[in-house]
Amino acid sequence: MKTIVIGGGPAGCAAAYTLSKQGHDVLLFEASDQVGGRTKQLRRDGFNLATGALFLMGGIYPRTSALLAEMGHEREVVAWGGASELQDKDDSRYPVSFVSLPSYLRIPVLTLGDKLKVALAGLKLYAGSGAGNAFNGAELAAFDKGENLETWSRQNLGDRAYEYIVRPIMDFLYAVPASWLSTPFPHAIIRQAHKMKLSVPPGGIGQVSEWFVKAAKRAQVRLSSPVERIERNGNGFRVFANGEAYDADGLVVATEAFVAAKLLESHIDADAKRRLTEAPYTDYAHVAIGYAKSPWPDYPNDIVLPVGVGETRNIGAIVLHSRRNPGSVPKGAEAVGVYFNTPPLAHMSDDDIKREAVEAAVRAFGAAPEPSFVHLFRYDRGLTIAGPGHYAKLDAVHKAMPPRVCLAGDYFSQAGVEAAVFSGERAAQVLDRALRESGGVPLHAPAAAELTA
Ligand SMILES: Cc1cc2nc3c(=O)[nH]c(=O)nc-3n(C[C@H](O)[C@H](O)[C@H](O)COP(=O)(O)OP(=O)(O)OC[C@H]3O[C@@H](n4cnc5c(N)ncnc54)[C@H](O)[C@@H]3O)c2cc1C
Repeated sequence: MKTIVIGGGPAGCAAAYTLSKQGHDVLLFEASDQVGGRTKQLRRDGFNLATGALFLMGGIYPRTSALLAEMGHEREVVAWGGASELQDKDDSRYPVSFVSLPSYLRIPVLTLGDKLKVALAGLKLYAGSGAGNAFNGAELAAFDKGENLETWSRQNLGDRAYEYIVRPIMDFLYAVPASWLSTPFPHAIIRQAHKMKLSVPPGGIGQVSEWFVKAAKRAQVRLSSPVERIERNGNGFRVFANGEAYDADGLVVATEAFVAAKLLESHIDADAKRRLTEAPYTDYAHVAIGYAKSPWPDYPNDIVLPVGVGETRNIGAIVLHSRRNPGSVPKGAEAVGVYFNTPPLAHMSDDDIKREAVEAAVRAFGAAPEPSFVHLFRYDRGLTIAGPGHYAKLDAVHKAMPPRVCLAGDYFSQAGVEAAVFSGERAAQVLDRALRESGGVPLHAPAAAELTA
C-alpha cells in the first residue's frame, strides 16, 4: 500500500526501510537537501564534520546494530576505543575508558569507601529490575519513580562519585545538569554497560540514514521538500509539499515533536498537541576546530572530560576527531570537537563560544598554531532530554493518533540514534499491522534481494 514518511532523520529513514521491507510503497519527504537530520555530515575544507551525532554504542544500540547487520554494513563501521581522561580543576589528569565504567574506580580522588559504594550500587542495579530496552518509552515509564539523576547519584554513589563519574559522562552525552534527567534511562544503560562499544560508519553517523534509504528498494526520497500540511482523504491522507498533493493510505510522522504537533494539529486533541509541543529540546552548541597538520599526533588520549567539583563548567568534552574516525579528516590533519554544556549558552555569544573552544583545546592537548578554521554548530533545539514523568507523558500520545498515523522520533526516549531507529521501526510495524487489518490491496512480498543493499 502507499505510505508516506515525513522527516528523513534516522527515525524516518528506519521507518521507510522497514515499510519498504514489508512490501509497501514509500514516499519519504525531507525538508533539508540531505537525509540524516541531526546526524547529518558537513563537508568542509576536506574534513567530514559531524553536525550532530558522533558515535553508535554497540550492544546498547540493539536495533541499529541489527539493522546495519541486516543491510550488510556491520563490518564497515569503524571501531573507536574512546581512550579518555578526566581533567581536574588543578589540571591533574585521570585516565579512564569511556566504554568501561569499572575504569572510573581507578580515579585516585575516590576513597575506598566511595569505590565500595559505587560497586554496590552498580551490582544492585545490575541484579535488580529495570527497563530491558533503554529506548522504549513505554518500558522506561514503568520504572520512573519521579526521581532525578543527581538526587539518586548523590544518595547511592556519594558526592565525589557523582562529580567524577556521573557528571563527566552525562555532560558529554546530554550536556545538561543531572538534576534535569530522570533515572530509568541511565539505570538501563548502566545495566547494559558491558555491551557498550563505540563506532562510527566510515562516512560519519549520517551514513546510517543514507544506508537505510539506499536499502529501501520501494522508497522514493524527496529532498528539499518540507511537508506543509496533512489533510484527510477518505480513509487515507493527502500530504502537501512543494505545492503538490500526494495521497497515501498511512503515514509515519518522523519530524521533531514540535513539528509533528503543528502538522497534526487538526487531527489530534489539544492534550496530545500540548504534549508534543512541550517535548523538551535543549539549546546545544559544539565547535569544530580544524588544523591542516595535527599539533598533537602523539597525544595519549582521544577525549578530555573537564571536571569541576561543585562548579558549573561551560564545556563537557573535548574530542580528537581523527581518533574517532580517521576518515573524517584529511591525512595528517586534526579536527577538535568542543562540546558545550547547555546552561551557560544563554549568556554566550557565538564569538564567546568559539574563543572559549579554542582556549579549551589548547588547555586540554597543549599549544597549537592558529587553526585553519573554527566552525560553530549552534542549535536552539539540539538534544531531546527526559526529566521525571517524561516517558509516560510522551508515550500516551501514541494512543491519541488517528488510525494509520504513527509517530517516530527520539523524543519518546532520550536523544540518541538508537532511540530514533527503534521508534522508526516500531512506527512502521504498527502502521503495517493497521494497514493489513484494514484489508487493503495485497502487498508485494519483498524479494530476498530487496532486504539487502
Ligand atoms: C550535537 C549533537 C550530538 C549528538 N551526538 C549523538 C551521538 O554521538 N550518538 C547518538 O546516538 N546520538 C547523538 N545525538 C542525537 C541524535 O542526533 C538524535 O537523537 C537523532 O538525530 C534523532 O533522530 P530523529 O530522526 O528522531 O530526528 P532528527 O534527526 O531531528 O530528524 C528529523 C528530520 O525531520 C525533518 N523535518 C522537519 N520538519 C519537516 C517537514 N515539515 N517536512 C519534512 N521533513 C521535516 C528534519 O529536517 C530532520 O531531517 C546528537 C545530537 C546532537 C544535536
